[in-house]
Amino acid sequence: MKAAVFTEVGTPLAVEQVPDPAPAPSELVVKVGYCGVCGTDLHATRQGLTTACHGQILGHEFVGEIVEVGPQAQGNWQVGERVCAMPFIACGHCLPCAAGRFFECQNKKVAGVDAQGGFAEYVATGCRETLRLPDNLELQTAALVEPLAVGIHAVRVAQLKAGSRVLIIGAGPIGLTTALWCRFFGARSVVVSETAASRAALAQAMGATTVLRPDPAAGTAGLLAQFMDAAGGPPDVIFECVGAPGLLQQCIEIAPYGGRIIPVGVCEQPDSIMPFFGLVKELNIQFAIAHTLDDFETSIAMLAAGRIDVAPMITDIVSLEQLPAAFEALRTPDHQCKVLARMW
Ligand SMILES: [Zn+2]
Ligand SMILES: [Zn+2]
Repeated sequence: MKAAVFTEVGTPLAVEQVPDPAPAPSELVVKVGYCGVCGTDLHATRQGLTTACHGQILGHEFVGEIVEVGPQAQGNWQVGERVCAMPFIACGHCLPCAAGRFFECQNKKVAGVDAQGGFAEYVATGCRETLRLPDNLELQTAALVEPLAVGIHAVRVAQLKAGSRVLIIGAGPIGLTTALWCRFFGARSVVVSETAASRAALAQAMGATTVLRPDPAAGTAGLLAQFMDAAGGPPDVIFECVGAPGLLQQCIEIAPYGGRIIPVGVCEQPDSIMPFFGLVKELNIQFAIAHTLDDFETSIAMLAAGRIDVAPMITDIVSLEQLPAAFEALRTPDHQCKVLARMW
């Protein structure tokens, strides 16, 4: 099959012929329809904590059609069924697996990390981690299920209450899906802070009640003043959806007494905070990552019911051949939000 393969840091992905996936007995093979590019994929091609190995196929936001069912794959899977999959193949026997919390499984493989990912014509998936798509749900739309699941997971981890005032820092794909779910679950104010103009416009389309353009010169006090203006009070919950040093400290300074901070952005650098400012406000800092089976199921159900809309997030659709260039362009994005590689 053809796939976009990572070779080394500093070199674009290479579209090459590689062996077809060899599924384990309990796995399925999916013919990939679309695979979205995620910030995690970009991280994996840089020097850092998550740098990919030579020959890795990245991509974990894929949807497609089943072409092969392993002899021990439970779930009555049929060739031709339209599916998406969680990007894990877990052990299926541990307690977290039984609860659908595959990310917690200590014996899992992760697509794009230690299992081949979806920037390819075919990908192997786990029979437990694969989900059927309702007939009325377009494949292209379903390609956004994974980032939606990350967003709903963060909002669930935050224990968001209806009527809350929310600040979301960053309007990348995860900031946007977090904004969508905050609105869905009844936040009174969904205020998104974003410096880039194109992303700020998208935030409005995705459910933000106000989009702030922070003024770096005005600092943290300036951002809080802008938030108070927009929401009429301080933020009950702050989602940090960028992952850059300095932002956690900014969240700590903005949060009110008893406030909740949810770091969702991927920060791979040391970052210093002044704990005292969190201490005197008894802040809750609760990290959030990935998703559970129910986060996927809920995202699929709400998309299929037409109760949420992610169409504004899809800004670019490219072929597998065009993917390496589109991937490099994402290192300095301008208009892009979600870039999808279309495989057929
Ligand atoms: Zn992702
Ligand atoms: Zn397990």
